[in-house]
Amino acid sequence: MAAMSSFFLLIIGLFLVFTTTTTSFAELERFEEPAKGADGSLSFLVVGDWGRRGTYNQSQVSLQMGKIGEKLDLNFVISTGDNFYDNGLAGTNDPNFEESFTKVYTAKSLQKQWYSVLGNHDYRGDTEAQLDPILRKIDSRWLCLRSFILNAEIAEFFFIDTSPFVDSYFNTPEGHTYDWRGVTPRNNYIANLLKDVETALRESSAKWKIVVGHHAIRSAGHHGDTPELVKQLLPILQANNVDLYMNGHDHCLEHISSIESPIQFLTSGGGSKAWRGDLKGTNSDDVKFFYDGQGFMSVQLTQTNAEIIFYDVSGKILHKWNVSKELQSAM
Ligand SMILES: [Zn+2]
Repeated sequence: MAAMSSFFLLIIGLFLVFTTTTTSFAELERFEEPAKGADGSLSFLVVGDWGRRGTYNQSQVSLQMGKIGEKLDLNFVISTGDNFYDNGLAGTNDPNFEESFTKVYTAKSLQKQWYSVLGNHDYRGDTEAQLDPILRKIDSRWLCLRSFILNAEIAEFFFIDTSPFVDSYFNTPEGHTYDWRGVTPRNNYIANLLKDVETALRESSAKWKIVVGHHAIRSAGHHGDTPELVKQLLPILQANNVDLYMNGHDHCLEHISSIESPIQFLTSGGGSKAWRGDLKGTNSDDVKFFYDGQGFMSVQLTQTNAEIIFYDVSGKILHKWNVSKELQSAM
């Protein structure tokens, strides 16, 4: 009998070792979002650089998001990071979470799941607080991970933690303190992330492949291109037929297309404070649209069409753009 129990304990032990080993080498965490209706269409809003307790027109942008969200019957909302200014959250009990999120995005249409990445400002606080599932008990809409995948049937979204790529945050932090717990050793972190993203993109059979990060790959705004991402991330996106790259960081709205591939670069970083007059190189042919002010973006996807619209702080449409795909028969 004792031998029998030891045998079972051994089996359970082996099972535990096996499962914990596999999860510690797990790929990016995956989430599922069912598409709407039989045609599999999706609609969502994208906003970035927002958390300022409603100030700097954050509340006005939120009001318009609510109205447009009502019209589009949203599936979810995407935040491109710099969720809480100036220095992220101080902890899971920081009132800034409710004051800048729960009490600002109050419209009925925005009571959907929010998928968020971290920005550089978020790394200046207690980074792990924003990732803590306890925040979902305060506001169930909140979901923020460093990097993850969202499968929404016709589209697959790859959320990428871009702050660790930026050399200057490590080499010349200019008086800012970054909470890099969970990111060091940095080179391993970046190498593993790139490998996971490449594998996931390669294996994806989604009609639309959409990558979301905080930092721009291409931008005509204040920060401009992020050379580390141009060098390390962009080749992976180009090799795997990514349709859209969406980011914040520059406090503007912009649409840039690449000459090297069909990938479209979309900045939605106008969630609150804007930097009027701070731009560079907007006369390039690649820059299809640039607005140096507050606002947000909507995306409506079907199997064969993507419609992307930028709105200003009064809800006015600033730029609308469509891309069509051939309907590939599965027969
Ligand atoms: Zn930023």
